Amino acid sequence: MVWVCILHHEKTKRYSPDTASYTNCSIANPIIYSVHILTRRGNIPSFSSMIIVLEQKITEEKKQHIRQFLENRGYRIKEIVGDIETIFGAVGVPRVDIREVEVLDGVAKVIPITRPYKLASRELKKQDTVVSAGSIKIGGKRIAVIAGPCAIESREQIFAIAEKVSQAGAVMLRGGAFKPRTSPYDFQGLGVEGIKYMKEAGEAFGLPITTEIVNPQHTDMMREYVDVFQIGARNMQNFELLKEVGKTGLPVILKRGLAATIEEWLMAAEYLMAHGTDDVILCERGIRTFERYTRNTLDLSAIPVVKKLSHLPIIVDPSHATGLRGKVLPMGLAAVAAGADGIMVEVHTDPDNALSDGAQSLYPEQFEKLMRDIEALAPVLGKSIEYIPKKAKAVSAALELKDKQAEHKVAFQGVRGAYSEAALKAYFREDKVPLPCRGFSDVFKTVLRGEARYGIIPVENSLAGVINENLDLLLSHPDIRIIGEQDIRIVHSLIGMPGSALETIRKVYSHPQGLAQCSVFLDNLPEVERIPFFDTAGAVAHLAELNDPSSAAIAGVQSAECYGMEILKEGIETNPRNYTRFYIIARDTEADKMLEIQDANRAIMVFSTADEPGALFRCLKVLAERGLNMKKLESRPIHGKPWEYMFFIETEIPGTEAYTQAIKELVDVTVEFRILGEFSSNR
Ligand code: PEP
Ligand code: MN
Repeated sequence: MVWVCILHHEKTKRYSPDTASYTNCSIANPIIYSVHILTRRGNIPSFSSMIIVLEQKITEEKKQHIRQFLENRGYRIKEIVGDIETIFGAVGVPRVDIREVEVLDGVAKVIPITRPYKLASRELKKQDTVVSAGSIKIGGKRIAVIAGPCAIESREQIFAIAEKVSQAGAVMLRGGAFKPRTSPYDFQGLGVEGIKYMKEAGEAFGLPITTEIVNPQHTDMMREYVDVFQIGARNMQNFELLKEVGKTGLPVILKRGLAATIEEWLMAAEYLMAHGTDDVILCERGIRTFERYTRNTLDLSAIPVVKKLSHLPIIVDPSHATGLRGKVLPMGLAAVAAGADGIMVEVHTDPDNALSDGAQSLYPEQFEKLMRDIEALAPVLGKSIEYIPKKAKAVSAALELKDKQAEHKVAFQGVRGAYSEAALKAYFREDKVPLPCRGFSDVFKTVLRGEARYGIIPVENSLAGVINENLDLLLSHPDIRIIGEQDIRIVHSLIGMPGSALETIRKVYSHPQGLAQCSVFLDNLPEVERIPFFDTAGAVAHLAELNDPSSAAIAGVQSAECYGMEILKEGIETNPRNYTRFYIIARDTEADKMLEIQDANRAIMVFSTADEPGALFRCLKVLAERGLNMKKLESRPIHGKPWEYMFFIETEIPGTEAYTQAIKELVDVTVEFRILGEFSSNR
C-alpha cells in the first residue's frame, strides 16, 4: 500500500490513517510544504509510550474520550495535573501511530517518551514528586532525615534510639527486622517481632517507620505495620519482590544496587511504579569500586544525574556508603549540599555493642551535631528541614471562618509568584491556597475577617533590615497572633519572555530593592535601563502583558513559572547571603488551638515601660534571671505619644515553669505588656 501524506503548516489539516483522509480539511489557500510517500506502515512514527498534552480548557467529555481511545489500545494512563497544563502519560507495550492521537479533539500535542524508564522519567513528569509518609513529606524544597539502628535488637533498644533521634529532629525511624547479612552466622534480625516493636516506638514518638523487605511473601504481613517499605541494595533487581511491593501502592525507599548503573536503578523504580506505587524514593548508598578504605564509594554525582533524569526524590545513606562513623557527617552534609532530598543514617545508643554495623553507627551526640549542621546548610540551598508538625489541639468545628475554603487559605502581600508565596509554601506542610492581597494591612484584615485562616508577613531582611510597617501592624492588631516563622533565601533572577536572550535586553523592571540588590550584575549591562516597579513578581506579571522580548524583570524563579516566563540568568544578586524572615499570623482564637505551650520554644512579646531610670534594665533583668535567652530587641515609637517607645523582644523559652514565672514578673515591671506569639522555631 502507498500512503501519501501532505503536510500543511495549518494545524487543522491533519492526515488520519484510520479513514485514510484529512480531517477538518478546509483548505482556503493551500500551501503544500512537502509530500512524503510512505511505502510501509512501519514508517509511520509509533511509540510504546508517550506524553499527551491536553488543551488547556478541555472538557471532561473529551478527556474521557482520549483516555478511552488509549486504554482500548492497551495503554495504561496516568493523569498529571500541573500548574499550567494537564497531561496524560500513556505507557505500555502497544505501538500506536502518534498522529492518530494527535488528531483527537482536545489534544494539544504528543511527545514520545524516549527513555527506557517511562513512569519514573522526568520526560513524563516535569514537577518533582513529593512523597507523603504519615505526617511527613519527602521531596520538593524539604530535607528529610531518617535515622535509627541498623537492626532492631530489642524493644528497649528501639525505644531508646527512637527517643534520641526524634529529639534531634529525625522525621522517620529506620531499623532492620529481616537482615540480609553477608554471613549466615551473623545476626539475622528479630523478624516480625522486631517490626512490632518498631511500630510501637514510632507511634510513641510520632515517627513514621521504614524497614527492609527481603521476601515477597512477607508483603501482606509487613504492610500492616510499615509506612515505607525499604528495598535493600542486594534486592534492587529482585523483580518478583519489586512487583509484590509495587502492588501495595505504599511508598518505597529503593536502594541502589552494589553494582547497578543509574539506568538499571531507574528501571527497578519503573518496576515498582508499573505495578502500582507512585511513591518511590531513590536511595544512593555507595557502589562497589576498587577502593577498600571505605566500605563502598559514595557516588554523589548520582544526585544531579537522577534529578535530571527523574522526578522522583533521592536520598543518600552515608552510613552504608562509608562504613565508618567518622565519615558519615561530612558525606551526609555533602549529600545535602549536592541536592539530596534527605539522608538516612544509622544511629545507636551503644554502637560498640551493636549486633550489626556498629562501626558506622553514630552516637546520638554525633547525630545531633549532624542535624544542627544540616539546619545551617538548608537556607543556603533554599530549602527547609522537614519536621514533625507539633500536636495541634483538637480543632473545634467553630472555626468562625467565612467558608470551608478559607480554612486552606493563606493571605500574603503581593501578586502570585511573590517571595511571600515562596515562604508560605516552605512553611506549610500541606497544600494551601495562596490569597494575594494589595498591602500588608490587607493581609491582617483578610485574616481578621476570616477570609483566610492564616497570613504571612515579612518582618526582616538580612540586608535591608526590619520591615517596620509590619511590626506596627502587629502592635495595632491585638486580635492577631504570631504562630510561626519561616526564613527563605532570596535568590534574584533575570526573567524574560520565552525565546528572549540576555544580549537583547534593554529594559529591566523590578522593585527598587531588587534593582539595588543586583547592581553589580546590572552595571555590566550598560545599555539596560533600570525601571522601578512596585513589586518584583508584579514586574514579571507586567512583562507577560508587555509581550516585549527586549524587556526583562528581576524576581524569584517561582514568579517565572507562575507567568510562563523564562529564566535568562539565575542568582544575579550581588550578595548571596540574602535572607528574609516571615511571621505566620492567625486570629488569636485560631492560635489558641494551634500549640500546646510546652511545644513552644520561642516567644515574641511587646511592652512599654515607665519613663524613669533603669526601666528597661529591670525588664531585661527578669529575662536574665529566668534564663530567657534574648534573640532580638527592637524599639518602635508609640503612635500619638511622641518620644515614647514600645519594645519588641524575641526570646527562647527555656521551660514552661521559668517562662510562666518570667511573664508574671514582666507584667509587674512594665506599663503595657502583650505576648504576640509563642511557637516552635528551628532557629
Ligand atoms: C540497610 O539499610 O539496613 C541495609 C542493609 O542497607 P543496604 O541495602 O544499602 O546494604
Ligand atoms: Mn546496616
